[in-house]
Amino acid sequence: MATIVAGIGTSHVPSIGAVVDSGRQNTPEWKPLFDAYEPVQTWLSDERKVDAVIVIYNDHACDFSFSKYPTFAVGAASEYAIADEGFGVRPLPSIKGDLELSTHICRHLVYEEEFDITICKEMAVEHGLLVPMDLCFPQQGEWPVKVIPVQVNVLQHPIPTALRCFKLGAALRRAVESYDEDVNVAVMGTGGMSHQLHGERFGHLNSDFDNWFLDKIESDPQAICDMTHFDLMEQAGAEAVELIMWLTMRGAMTPDAQRIHRNYYAPMTTGMGLITMQDAA
Ligand code: FE
Repeated sequence: MATIVAGIGTSHVPSIGAVVDSGRQNTPEWKPLFDAYEPVQTWLSDERKVDAVIVIYNDHACDFSFSKYPTFAVGAASEYAIADEGFGVRPLPSIKGDLELSTHICRHLVYEEEFDITICKEMAVEHGLLVPMDLCFPQQGEWPVKVIPVQVNVLQHPIPTALRCFKLGAALRRAVESYDEDVNVAVMGTGGMSHQLHGERFGHLNSDFDNWFLDKIESDPQAICDMTHFDLMEQAGAEAVELIMWLTMRGAMTPDAQRIHRNYYAPMTTGMGLITMQDAA
């Protein structure tokens, strides 16, 4: 039986991809961020022995466009191309998929859970997925784990509620646990913490909110499920509504799951948060 062995919540910002590609992880401004992920990488590879990761992320009008934005899109392919976000394709190996597990998840979501997802036989992935991979599962010529991409529309309203994202996580857990093969699966929810990238509140950052969120995602996710999109945007900035994707990770973990790592770093325009969890023994 497949098992969920780890949950990860982490921010993504495109600049981290450029830092990785130019080898600037140890410069004074970036070192505190990258240092926080080193024990996470070891924990995921050596202790949790992750084979595959379900990445819940949002496309930023790169592979999808405002003419068609699926609410939930799940990849069902054995390989995913690296998308060009407008500054050239990053020098990365393509993402390896797990076609069998993806297909099982899609069938389970549609037939057993009434989540009528968009199933993608082809998908190009961008920083929403790649930066969390850089941070948690860095590649050295090839990526160490297979990926099941789950794209969520958090750009074009109406977008799914926080509660709907949480319920998707619970459905994903049941999908994984009904898969016959022995696969260790991590679930990663990604999205910037407080940030706003336009208008009068450009640069808005709310570290108090971000730390409250890190508390609640661990101990009381219902408090976040109860928030409206407007609540989230007012507190943490318009683009912080991406945080609803962290709830999919939390919904895939048991209620009493324990936190293993936590970090917060916010010297720039986006609150960079990290939390990892595993089910109680
Ligand atoms: Fe984003």
